Amino acid sequence: MEIKKNLEYEVEITDVTSEGNGVAKIDGFTVFIPNTAVGDKAIIKVVKVLKNYGYGIVTELITPSEDRVISDCSVYKKCGGCTFKHISYEAELKLKQKTVYDCFKRIGGFDILPKEIIGSNKSSHYRNKAQYPVGKDDNGNIVAGFFAKRSHRIIPSESCSLQPEIFSDIVTDTLTLIKDNDISVYDETAHKGAIRHIYLRYAESTGEIMLCLVSAVKKLSGIENLASQIVKKYPQIKSVMLNYNPEKTNVILGKESYLVYGKEYITDIMCGIRVNISAQAFYQVNKCQAEILYNKAIEYASLKKGDILLDLYCGIGTIGLSAADKVKKLIGVEIIPQAIKDAKINAKQNDIQNAEFLCDDCKGAVKTLLSKNIKPDVIIIDPPRKGCDIEVIEALCDFAPKRIVMVSCNPATAARDCKLLSERGYKVVEYTPVDMFPRTGHVETVVQLVRKKPDTYIDITVDMDELDLTSSEAKATYDEIKDYIFDKHRVKVSSLYVAQVKQKHGIIERDCYNNSKKDNPKQPQCPPEKVTLIEEALRHFKMIP
Ligand code: SAH
Repeated sequence: MEIKKNLEYEVEITDVTSEGNGVAKIDGFTVFIPNTAVGDKAIIKVVKVLKNYGYGIVTELITPSEDRVISDCSVYKKCGGCTFKHISYEAELKLKQKTVYDCFKRIGGFDILPKEIIGSNKSSHYRNKAQYPVGKDDNGNIVAGFFAKRSHRIIPSESCSLQPEIFSDIVTDTLTLIKDNDISVYDETAHKGAIRHIYLRYAESTGEIMLCLVSAVKKLSGIENLASQIVKKYPQIKSVMLNYNPEKTNVILGKESYLVYGKEYITDIMCGIRVNISAQAFYQVNKCQAEILYNKAIEYASLKKGDILLDLYCGIGTIGLSAADKVKKLIGVEIIPQAIKDAKINAKQNDIQNAEFLCDDCKGAVKTLLSKNIKPDVIIIDPPRKGCDIEVIEALCDFAPKRIVMVSCNPATAARDCKLLSERGYKVVEYTPVDMFPRTGHVETVVQLVRKKPDTYIDITVDMDELDLTSSEAKATYDEIKDYIFDKHRVKVSSLYVAQVKQKHGIIERDCYNNSKKDNPKQPQCPPEKVTLIEEALRHFKMIP
């Protein structure tokens, strides 16, 4: 049967993806349907048909799934921050457990079941960080809220059930003070005005709050006034910062931050360690679960007193510092200078004398450490969503530690990187999903890998291209890549540009798009911002690492 756009079909939802889309098969053809739950029987209207799959929306829910609950959020469907507000937390945990397993099986090729997912005691008000875009509504009022799904239209809403309740009061008052002090707000279309985001951070153990105003303008008259007025009302605000971000970008924070009031950081207590957290430094958003995650990582590290521990992608040093008393030496590596500054102070203020922190890209740092003949016994890695660069994977194996513990917020890249490590002499012993982000589609995973005995593995080099091209996702068509970018960013890219970026990554082209600049100097070249979007899509389809 040919599935047609705008026609209605009766379906049963059999699965839900980590993005929260229900999955139904119509005569073998896969259709993704948002805001549905496993077991729902519904009439759906097909709204988009692509080569291998389509999208639909529910027009009538015939029999609701037993997993369904009434969402406690009025803006859930518009916001896109939460993925699973319409199902119970138990059902969400089951899906996350399955997502992690599916990644490890499908991408990693591991036939090992994960340990039982560790759920969060709190599934609301657990976040310690929030970033509210600021703009004007149609009547010229200054508003803060969130961007509507896949757009930059601000939906005014200062409260969110994932965030501390006090944040919404602070945002409301900050908006009033922005207006009272005649501070302009940023207009994204005209690239004019100042305040782009209100960024708040909360340290659960001490109650300290940071208010950081992200501004496209560096010097803001009225900002000191605003700061002194807001701290009068909220004395727990110990830090008011101005972050300068003049770029035309979706990235929230710029590179420079300036102190307006108090200190440049707030202080929390994580796993018994006093930690300073700067505006730009990474800090886990769910502190309670982070402590559970770090303890699991340290358990997997199985450290001995004489060990050298290498903590790669260490942020402000949290994981390594909480294990420093178990080892002879700790070395942390992190790329953000403010985070490394915090990490060094964090070591000092906890009287930890065996820690050293390097501010560098892990890619470069591992080379330096190898050249100095440093031999870590255990390495903990906690990379960003994109996972590890191949140079880091190879260096990990050159260090030949007894154990590698991988902490990751993206099970797909974790599985990919574990596969690469397993092909280079490491064995995945055990892995545990930890839910740091209830109600959202995200899940953290911690993996224990141990070095195989030298005679039990064959050291082979795997060509990344070869790997990617044989994976099933590598078959994304040009249209799928273009649709993905348009759906996510509302940006159109041409097939020619997609071809150029595929070519840049050595994904062989067999058609007429394979003309390099040298062959045809007049050919338009893909602008850098589109290269980034296309690379993101290729990554999404696992066509590049
Ligand atoms: N382990 C820390 C931080 C984990 S998040 C914690 O638990 O708090 C990942 C960290 O990797 C971030 O701090 C980010 O700034 C850093 N990072 C990203 N790319 C990097 C790179 N190429 N080299 C070194 N650090 C990097």
